[in-house]
Amino acid sequence: MELHTLSLTEAAAALRRGETTSVELTRALLGRIEAHNPALNAFLTVTGEWALELARRADGRIQSGAASPLTGIPLAIKDVICVQGVPATAGSLILKGYRPPYHATVIEKLLAAGVVILGKTNTDEFAMGSSTENSAYGVTHNPWDPTRVPGGSSGGSAAAVAAGLAFGALGSDTGGSVRQPAAFCGVVGLKPSYGRVSRYGLIAFASSLDQIGVFARTAEDAALLLGAIAGHDPRDGTSMPTPVPDYAAQLQSGGSPVGGQSLRGLRVGLPKEYFVSGVEADVSTAVSAAVKVLEGLGAQAREVSLPHTEQALSVYYIIAPAEASANLARFDGVRYGARADAPTLWDEYRQTRGAGFGAEVKRRIMLGTYALSTGYYDAYYLQAQKVRTLIKGDFDSAFDDVDVIACPTSPTTAFKIGEKADDPLAMYLADVFTLPANLAGIAGVSVNCGFDRAGLPVGLQLLGPAFIEDRLLRVAHVFQQTTEWHTKVPAL
Ligand code: GLN
Repeated sequence: MELHTLSLTEAAAALRRGETTSVELTRALLGRIEAHNPALNAFLTVTGEWALELARRADGRIQSGAASPLTGIPLAIKDVICVQGVPATAGSLILKGYRPPYHATVIEKLLAAGVVILGKTNTDEFAMGSSTENSAYGVTHNPWDPTRVPGGSSGGSAAAVAAGLAFGALGSDTGGSVRQPAAFCGVVGLKPSYGRVSRYGLIAFASSLDQIGVFARTAEDAALLLGAIAGHDPRDGTSMPTPVPDYAAQLQSGGSPVGGQSLRGLRVGLPKEYFVSGVEADVSTAVSAAVKVLEGLGAQAREVSLPHTEQALSVYYIIAPAEASANLARFDGVRYGARADAPTLWDEYRQTRGAGFGAEVKRRIMLGTYALSTGYYDAYYLQAQKVRTLIKGDFDSAFDDVDVIACPTSPTTAFKIGEKADDPLAMYLADVFTLPANLAGIAGVSVNCGFDRAGLPVGLQLLGPAFIEDRLLRVAHVFQQTTEWHTKVPAL
């Protein structure tokens, strides 16, 4: 049995039946990381010894019958999430050598469930980017074509799952950073609603948009992961007390308004602003075919309108940099990571930040500081917040008429490394279809729905109202039960 080809759910079943052990699974994946990570650069840190120790503990737990479905499952963690004692770089030189003294809440929860942590994955610096090219530690290569980007900013997590180096992974999504790399790498990527998952221990980029999300090869696997990390956390004032459903159980029956393996009665909205020129022909073709599959299962597709879509990119690139400029003020060389040796405090700040931050991060800090400065605050930040409310209103109206929205995750498939690296605006456009969901605080998932003529995966994005992740997961699951895209794996 090729252990790494199992889905997370299959691996969990094999563990429970005693057909394999967590140590065996962990050794198999550590072996694959050793073989393939030098070419992919998906992992920045591999915690091999700790992983094996966690695996031995998990095996003990499984034998004693005290296991949960995730016990003994090896996972990867994006390097913006704090794991106590393990380097957390956020893809930045400024955090080189930083080891968090505490676990993020999501890590505490996963460890309590008995997972095995394989290591930390590559990311655009402070999660700012769409290609992983903004990492200070080198680009991650797309497992489907190493000359192409894996997407970003959670490119390392997406590539690790696609390449069979982990059964699942955590990422973060501020404007698309889970869904877009999931699309580029052909895996499932779910961004929960704002407030669904605690952000405590997530290195902040834009606090009103950030949300931790999950990667896996199937919606079923993603359901298990989301169930393990979701829920209220007193340490994150924006996390919500909304009860956490049993997402895995809901796949079979629940997730109103439909049950069973049919999608009868499900109303699917196709936003007319998302099916426009600028979307690659192969992406349109694959997404339209996927909508036909949903219709074949009983869903009714109809056009909806999200009239403020055109403003979303501008709004995001005011709000996200504004929040980032405030969040990144803490990296002053005194409290965290790297510190320049300089004669005065001001020199120390200037040199630490000058050398520690990369070009994109500096660009965001400047944009954000400008937008928040006296005289410009009303013209930019306040205005952007007002339009943000209109964008949320667009989704509220659409969800009066439909249960989910279906659209491309990204207008293109994975682009070449270097292709957009010198053109920030072209790079920002990679997220036009994902960032409105962050502005509105709603949930979204990307699921592989085919390939373009170059053999690169295409993502179908499903969006739903806040806190109905169960519905999105169920639609993605039923889609995967009917199609075989998720069974395709890249040849490494
Ligand atoms: N690509 C977007 C940006 O650069 C979104 C990143 C993210 O979701 N973290 O801001």
